[in-house]
Order: sequence, then structure tokens, then C-alpha cells
Amino acid sequence: MSKSSTRMFTCPKCGKDYEIEIWESINVALDPDLREKLFHNEIFKVECPHCHDVYQVVHPCLYHDPENKLMVYLVDDAIEKELEANPKIPFEVIPGYTYRYCKKIMEFVEKVRILEEGLDDRIVEMAKMFCEKQIVDSKRATLEEIEFTVYNTKKDNSVEIITVLKEEPVRMQLNYEQFEEIFLREEDGYEIEPNRFVRINRDWMLERATREYVKNIS
Ligand SMILES: [Zn+2]
Repeated sequence: MSKSSTRMFTCPKCGKDYEIEIWESINVALDPDLREKLFHNEIFKVECPHCHDVYQVVHPCLYHDPENKLMVYLVDDAIEKELEANPKIPFEVIPGYTYRYCKKIMEFVEKVRILEEGLDDRIVEMAKMFCEKQIVDSKRATLEEIEFTVYNTKKDNSVEIITVLKEEPVRMQLNYEQFEEIFLREEDGYEIEPNRFVRINRDWMLERATREYVKNIS
């Protein structure tokens, strides 16, 4: 079941109060329209009924897709601390589920899209790092100039990755299966403990890649 609550919100522009709806959890099997809303950036968007200014109100939200067996949790700092202190899933675990947590809305939507497509998010992170390396190696930009890199779409065997440099997007089509092969060869060290919420992002990948590199040269 999806769950929402209402709370009072003060418009930062006109200063008037109004009630907003907060989606605490989304079950897309029961409410497929909420999935659409998330993908159209409408779950966190509110419009002031007085001055019609539009805002993004970020709040924790648990995305549950029973069909694809995935739970993606957008958390705040407090929930992240709780998850780090006690990472075990606080409810009955269903076998075969993927559990992820995210800190940003963009990361949250991207994660749902990657997992919904049946892709392994660790392999996608590896492909994203490859794109950034290509850009840096070709001297197109420095690592600091890269704003972010994000998974875009999948078509047949290729995935499209977008890297944004100074508001300019660079699109790269990569063969997913090639990355999958590399990943499967190097899989040791990239395991995820099951039945707990994990944040798989660039930092996670970088930490493991560095650890593997150090292990290989020592
Ligand atoms: Zn207003």
C-alpha cells in the first residue's frame, strides 16, 4: 500500500501557509500512476496555491516495486544514520529482493530506472566511471569540471550514459555486456550483503576499485 500524509508548508516566496501531500511510501503495483508521477518529477513538486510558485520539497520516500522485487529508499541524514547503525531490514525479508538507498532525488529516480531495466547498478556505476575517465583522458574536462554522470536509457545491449560538463551534456553509448564481462571477472570485492539497504553510487564503486587496485599491486 502507498502511504501519504499531509503537512503544513510555508511558501518561501509569499510566506503564506498551505497544506502539502507527502508520499512516505509508494507501491507501484497498486498505484502505477505514482511511478509515472515520480518519473515526471511530480512526487516532490509542490505549487503554492497563493502565488503559484513551484518548489521541490525533499522528504524520505520508500519506493516498492513487488513485480521487479525492488525497494529503493530515499532517505535523509537521520535515516541514513539509522541504516548505518542497524542495516538489517526492519521488516520481513522476501527472498530475491534488491534493497538500495539514495540521498538525492536524481539518484533515487536513476536507481529505480536502472533496476527496473534489470541492470546491475554496480556495472552501471563502472560504466559511468569509464565515461568520466574517457572525458578526463581526452582532456575535454577535468574531473572537477564534471558536474554529474547519470544513466539515461537502455537499448538492446547498449546503455546510454550522460555526463554533464558545465551544463553541457556528453552522451556515450556503451556495450553493457562488455562491462558485465569485465565486472564478472573482477567480481570479488564488489559483493553486497543481502537483505540490507545499501547505497551503490560513485563513492561506493571508487572505494572498492581502489581497494582492489591496492590489493593487486601489493
Ligand atoms: Zn506562495
